[in-house]
Amino acid sequence: MTQDFKVPTEEELKAKLTPEEYEVLRNKGTELPYTGDFLTKTPDGTFACKVCNQPLFESTAKFDSMTGWPSFDQAIPGAVTEKADDSHGMTRVETTCSRCGSHLGHVFDDGPTETGKRYCINSVCLDLDTNKVPPPRAPKPPADTEETVADLTTPTV
Ligand SMILES: [Zn+2]
Repeated sequence: MTQDFKVPTEEELKAKLTPEEYEVLRNKGTELPYTGDFLTKTPDGTFACKVCNQPLFESTAKFDSMTGWPSFDQAIPGAVTEKADDSHGMTRVETTCSRCGSHLGHVFDDGPTETGKRYCINSVCLDLDTNKVPPPRAPKPPADTEETVADLTTPTV
């Protein structure tokens, strides 16, 4: 994380971002489901915060959650801050960029992979840098199959 990054003023951000991007990133809005640019299969690369360009998620963590928003099963360590959010009558965990504090989406504990996490992120909060292709994910440790003892139910004659 670079030390010299200065979060732009709200006025600068309003000039830089589209009204929808501003609403989601700075006012904790939510883009309409099934509208995001990164919903379907994307090229390999690194997804960065649209406000401060900090890398947040790698394409290797992306999966299709069928929820209408791009989803990731893990964030780049230290890049995303998680905080309880009781708005809208729900108890959720909000995710924000750890560098500039911009809203990204929410994280849930019902992910389908070994991390158990589902980061549900608004496409408008992200920029994809295809020049930063992440290394392949370390393969999952093999399932312990040592216990499969052959069942010797050979009938005795
Ligand atoms: Zn940021």
